[in-house]
Amino acid sequence: MNKASILLLPGDGIGPEVINELVKVMDWFSSNRGIEFDISKDDLGGAAYDRYGTPLSDDTLAVAKEVDAIVMGSVGGPQWDNVERHLRPEAGLLTLRKELDLFANLRPATCMPALAAASSLKQDLVSGLDILILRELTAGVYFGEPRGIETMPDGRRRALDTQVYFESEIERLVRVGFELAAKRNKKVHSVEKANVMETGVFWRQIATRVGKEYPDITLEHMYADNCAMQLVRQPKQFDVIATDNLFGDILSDCAAMLTGSLGMLPSASLGAEVNGKRSALYEPVHGSAPDIAGQGKANPLATILSFAMCLRFSLNRNQDADLLESAVDNILANNIRTIDIAATGADPVSTSAMGAALIDELNSLSQAS
Ligand code: NAD
Repeated sequence: MNKASILLLPGDGIGPEVINELVKVMDWFSSNRGIEFDISKDDLGGAAYDRYGTPLSDDTLAVAKEVDAIVMGSVGGPQWDNVERHLRPEAGLLTLRKELDLFANLRPATCMPALAAASSLKQDLVSGLDILILRELTAGVYFGEPRGIETMPDGRRRALDTQVYFESEIERLVRVGFELAAKRNKKVHSVEKANVMETGVFWRQIATRVGKEYPDITLEHMYADNCAMQLVRQPKQFDVIATDNLFGDILSDCAAMLTGSLGMLPSASLGAEVNGKRSALYEPVHGSAPDIAGQGKANPLATILSFAMCLRFSLNRNQDADLLESAVDNILANNIRTIDIAATGADPVSTSAMGAALIDELNSLSQAS
């Protein structure tokens, strides 16, 4: 794709700072790699609440539904803590995900050799790690009905949530898993709790059926608790982990920490493909980091790596995604680090200096090729 419409939603806290650096990267790709970006920019979260009285305006949502991809910074902050729940910054993001039916959440956990020492695991366990957690994002126990806290006729109180999955919801998620694995290391771990949950038995049946359509991909089933253990024991055994909303939430955070820093982790949330077009939202895994907002300390790389995912999954520009990821690898190997990933005693660089170093590296790489 040579032309792409992108909606930028910087959001709150460090969101605008990291999106600023991304804009420089997008400008570089348009000047040097011939991609014509049609960029629109709007508020989301707390910033949108302050401006429009709602964390996601109808106009913003309408644009979001039209564009090729959305790239977001982050939302939230203590100044909106007392706002009614449905108007809180996070509600804007949840509505956006639901309205666009972004059911497939991709969270790569890659550990660049230069950052292996930042992991809480031994370096040899994580150096070169490259796994992808695929989490179902729009169904399961976070959305199932009935739910609530209630008082029984005999006066006892209880709380309940409902884990429910339609066959189609599991099928479309695991199918994305097989398709991703086909372009990677050809292995899918389907993760559930078939030993104790009906939804787990059902999940396993459907993964097995869909897996037969992908004979080149190895499918293994694993219980979620074992998967948590294996992630910290031998994480490199995994390629793609396909799992439900709840287990994916927990396992992706666990995998995230293997890589060292929150400031490095990208994500993508993809919708169903309709007439060759797929809704997509790209965002860093980290939050709005109010403790460092406005100080020029934020690491912009998670957002920039999220844009690399956008190049790959929405714009079909794999070579450009590879180029951007190589530039990130190289600047880290040259010890250019923001405060979150700086080695003890080393001088960290600012958010904008990290962005500038990346542009220099992109220039060097493109001159060398
Ligand atoms: P956080 O991710 O914002 O911050 C956790 C810690 O990591 C902080 O010390 C922060 O300074 C550091 N950190 C995070 N991103 C960084 C970066 N790019 N560079 C350097 N350091 C970074 O999590 P939190 O403090 O639990 O949440 C703060 C706010 O963000 C809350 O309002 C929360 O609801 C919101 N949040 C939003 C999202 C999202 O927008 N998707 C995700 C998580 C949290």
